[in-house]
Amino acid sequence: MTAEDWKVSPQARELHRKSLVWDAHSCLPLRAGADMQALERHRAAGIDYVSINVGMDFNPVEQIMRVMASFRAWLAAHPKDYALALTVEDVRKAKADGKLAVSFDLEGSDMLRGDLAMLRLYRDLGVRQIHLAYNRNNSVGGGCHDAETGLTPFGREVVAEINRLGMLMDCSHTGHKTSMEIMEISRLPVIFSHACVRTLKQHARNIRDDQIDACARSGGVIGVTGIGIFLGQNDNSSETVLRHVDYVAERVGAKHVGFGLDFVFQRGGDEYPPGFKRADWWPPGNEYDTPNRRNVVPEQMPEFTEGLLKRGYSEADIGGILGENFLRAAAATWDRRS
Ligand SMILES: [Zn+2]
Repeated sequence: MTAEDWKVSPQARELHRKSLVWDAHSCLPLRAGADMQALERHRAAGIDYVSINVGMDFNPVEQIMRVMASFRAWLAAHPKDYALALTVEDVRKAKADGKLAVSFDLEGSDMLRGDLAMLRLYRDLGVRQIHLAYNRNNSVGGGCHDAETGLTPFGREVVAEINRLGMLMDCSHTGHKTSMEIMEISRLPVIFSHACVRTLKQHARNIRDDQIDACARSGGVIGVTGIGIFLGQNDNSSETVLRHVDYVAERVGAKHVGFGLDFVFQRGGDEYPPGFKRADWWPPGNEYDTPNRRNVVPEQMPEFTEGLLKRGYSEADIGGILGENFLRAAAATWDRRS
C-alpha cells in the first residue's frame, strides 16, 4: 500500500510533506540481526523521526545490548537514508536531508538492574526515552496491569537521574499512581509516547483525565497510539484516531498532543527469554487476544493531516500535532542534559 491509496487532498499532502512528522514509538523485531529495511515504510510515508523500542521489562540486559549493537550497526551502514538522532538538531538535519531520524526507547527499568549508572550507559548508546514500568510493578514503581502502587525510593532517584541526564520520561505503560507521582516530581516535561484516552475507551492502558492534565502541566505531550483495541472496538480508522486527538486538544490544548503509532514492523519477530509467559505481561481480559487485531499503519498518517484540516485546526496546530510538539518536549530534555 502506498500513501497515494489514501484519500488525501493536495493541500493536506503538501502540509504533511513540509511538516516535521514524529512517531514517538514503534517496534522492530527485538532480536539482533533484525532487518531494519522495514523502516523504509516510515520514510516513504513522510515520517521524519521514529523512536524504536530496544527492550521491555522482561528482556535480559544481554539481549537489549545485542539489539542496540545490531540496530546501531545497521544505521551506521545506511547513512544515505537513515540517521541515529541524539539531539533535536540531528532530527532537523535528517529531515532537511530526506533521512529518517531514529533513536531508541526502553519500556521499563528492570534493565537498570537497580543501578543508576546504567541510565547514562543507555543514554550514551542512543536511548532518548524511557518508561519506568512496563504493565507490571517493578523495583521503580507500578505498571498499568498490576496492583496500584507508587514510586519506590529507588524510583524517585531514577526520576531525578533521568531529568539530570536529559531523557524523555514516558508513562505509557505505567500505573496511574506512579505516573501521577512522576509528573509531580519531574523537573522536565513528561510524555505518554503511546496511549489513548480512557474516557473514550475503557482500557487499563488508556489514560485518565487527571493524567492528561498533569502531562500538559509538565509541558509534555500525549502520543495517540494506533492500537485498535485501545482506540475503540478493534478500530483503526483515522476518524477514531482523531477523536482521541480532539479530546486531548479540547481538554489541554493542541500543543500537548501528537502520535506514537506503536507500529509493529514484523509480527512474531521478537526473541523471548526462557520461561516467558505472555499472560504475565498482557493479562487475559484486556482484549489482547482479540482475533484479527487492527492497528494504524504508517501510510495512514497523511490522512490524519487531511482530517485535522477538515476539523478546522490551524496549520500551526497541525504542525505541532504532527511533530513539533514532541520536538519541543525533546528540546527541553535531550538538549539540556548535564
Ligand atoms: Zn508499548
